[in-house]
Amino acid sequence: MNIINPATEEVIRILQEDDKVTLNKKYELLKAGQLQWSKKNLTERLAVIHRFYDLLGAEQEVLAGILTSEVGKPLQQSRNEINGAKTRIQWMMNNAEKYLSDEWVTDTEELKEKISYDALGVVCNISAWNYPYLVGVNVFIPALIAGNTVMYKPSEYATLTGLEIEKLLKKAGLPDAAFQIAVGGKLVGEELLDMDFDGYFFTGSYQTGKYIYEKVALKMVPCQLELGGKDPLYVADDVNDVAAVAGGTADGAFYNNGQSCCAVERIYVHEKVYEEYVTAFLKEVQSWKKGLPTEEGVYIGALTRKEQLEVLEGQVADAVAKGASLLTGGKRGAGEGYNFEPTVLSNVTNDMKVMQEESFGPIIGIMKVKDDNEAIAMMQDTTYGLTAAVYSRGSDRAERILSQIDSGSGYWNCCDRVSAGLPWSGRKHSGIGSTLSHQGLRAFTKPKGWHMRG
Ligand code: NAD
Repeated sequence: MNIINPATEEVIRILQEDDKVTLNKKYELLKAGQLQWSKKNLTERLAVIHRFYDLLGAEQEVLAGILTSEVGKPLQQSRNEINGAKTRIQWMMNNAEKYLSDEWVTDTEELKEKISYDALGVVCNISAWNYPYLVGVNVFIPALIAGNTVMYKPSEYATLTGLEIEKLLKKAGLPDAAFQIAVGGKLVGEELLDMDFDGYFFTGSYQTGKYIYEKVALKMVPCQLELGGKDPLYVADDVNDVAAVAGGTADGAFYNNGQSCCAVERIYVHEKVYEEYVTAFLKEVQSWKKGLPTEEGVYIGALTRKEQLEVLEGQVADAVAKGASLLTGGKRGAGEGYNFEPTVLSNVTNDMKVMQEESFGPIIGIMKVKDDNEAIAMMQDTTYGLTAAVYSRGSDRAERILSQIDSGSGYWNCCDRVSAGLPWSGRKHSGIGSTLSHQGLRAFTKPKGWHMRG
């Protein structure tokens, strides 16, 4: 498997992919080791995770460089990602005991009742490339804390990072039999679906997620899916500072080159502030430094996947053919690498691809709406349901709107953010189940109800 640097198009490593034989060996190791790992007490398991947390900090610069070299995100954003992963791990470590310990429900002379949270067993994590540390730790950290052993398949576009994660976990004292990495792409993923894991945790596209859900259904084990989005954002007419809102929301749309599951993908603006918003938004987008992701100060680096360039070109052509105005960008960037110019389209309508299909790139459509009701109708007009954002002076107005949007997260005066203490979950085509929060800790367990008469 060739690992390509998307900013230079050079092959930077060649890796041996796993096959059926090597995957089975790894699976057997994890199966044999699961009881031993789950029998360790929580404090011992947490001590390993704590050392991993420390190592992420100590090795941050090297890890950030490796991440940037294979996914193309600006170096500072790689550093931010590792810091963000540490914040999540910290929350999980702080809250594990509270949410994974036995819970007493009834405690009388005649009857005692409790819930215990047992590990699922050997779980499989098939993961995405856009935030390999963040989406990875959402799964393998709580899974390990809860006493599972884990087969982790990083995306084929983020395998070097996956190998670093494995190295650091082992350095932190995690037994070989508790964590194994599956190296490869789609075919290796397919092999994993044919094996007997006790749970499947997937992060990736709707198309792959649906396929995996159907295959795993026959096994009668948990299957959790964190999928894509087409996340809408509405700017109401009562915002305090239109230019500041435009700047902040442009970042929500273009951070990581728009390759975030919760990136702002559609913007609706009240007609009273539309012109001012679009002007300020454009100014912000045109101020960004583009270039090699290793150069300090660069905000727009390379896209991770070459194929996406064609998807973005298709969305621009479709929008322009249907009457949209191309305000900036719209084409591939110059020079080596998978570069696409930050692209802003106005006068868009919801029947355009750019407003319906996940773009996963540096492109945004901005549409004028006449009032909140039109905004709600437009925001709801999607098969996805990951996040939705409203910018408005009043929380009442924002809550009234957000409560009518079928999404797993609602944002008032913020966007493109994830919090370790809140459930991260998609609705409709954005997924099933939750990671993060107490729900995300318990997702890797099976509850047992204890009925005890003394
Ligand atoms: P993808 O679906 O192409 O691949 C995801 C993983 O599935 C990879 O490891 C891949 O090798 C594997 N895979 C592909 N085909 C498979 C098959 N037939 N059987 C088994 N495994 C298979 O997605 P991607 O391009 O890696 O990630 C981008 C997508 O992920 C976007 O849609 C994004 O929105 C979504 N995402 C969602 C979240 C979230 O938390 N909701 C987070 C990050 C990314």
